[in-house]
Amino acid sequence: MNIGVLAVQGAFIEHERCLQQLGVTVSEIRKQEDLWQHTFDGIILPGGESTVMGKLIRDLGLYEPMLMLIKNGLPVFGTCAGLLLLAQQIDGGVGSHFACMDIAVKRNAYGRQLGSFTIQQEMKGLGVIPMVFIRAPYIETVGKKVPVLAEVDGKIVAAREDNMLVTAFHPEVTADLSVHRYFLGMVRNHSL
Ligand code: GLN
Repeated sequence: MNIGVLAVQGAFIEHERCLQQLGVTVSEIRKQEDLWQHTFDGIILPGGESTVMGKLIRDLGLYEPMLMLIKNGLPVFGTCAGLLLLAQQIDGGVGSHFACMDIAVKRNAYGRQLGSFTIQQEMKGLGVIPMVFIRAPYIETVGKKVPVLAEVDGKIVAAREDNMLVTAFHPEVTADLSVHRYFLGMVRNHSL
C-alpha cells in the first residue's frame, strides 16, 4: 500500500511518521512528476495554511491531476487546512480549492484565545480520542450524503463523504493512530 502525502507546506512529516508506524509506504507529492512516478492507494492533505497550499498546488500544476484522482474515487484524508482544500464552500469570501466535498466551512473559527486547544472527544466508531485544534476551521453545514463523525461543542469537526475523510483537528500530532487506521480501512475497502 502506498499513500501519497501532499508535501508542499505544513504538517506533512507528522502524517508520514504515523503512516510509517502503521507499516505503510509513503510517497511525497511535491511536483507533477511525483504523481506520474507512483501509484497511490490514497492521498493525505495535511494541515498548514490553506491559502498558501491552494496557491502552491495551482502553481506546481498539481491542482488538475489531483482533482481528477479524488473525483475518480481515490481515498483522500484532509486534516485542518486539508479539510479546507476539499470543502465546497469556505466562509469569508475566500475562494474554494478542490471544492469536491459537500461541506461549508468556517476558517479560523475558534477565535484568537481558543486558537489552539486539545480535548478528548468521541469520534464515531473510534471511541474517545485526543483532538488537537490549531487555528482550526469547523464545518458549519454538511450535505445530505455526508455523515458527521465528530462534534465538539455542537460544531462539526469530522465528517466523511464517500472516499473523502476530513478532520478539523490534527490526529497526526498525537500518539493515537486510530484516525489514520480508519483511513487505511477506507483505502483497503476501496482497493478490494
Ligand atoms: N488556519 C489554517 C487555514 O486557514 C488552518 C490551520 C491548520 O491547518 N492547522 O488554512
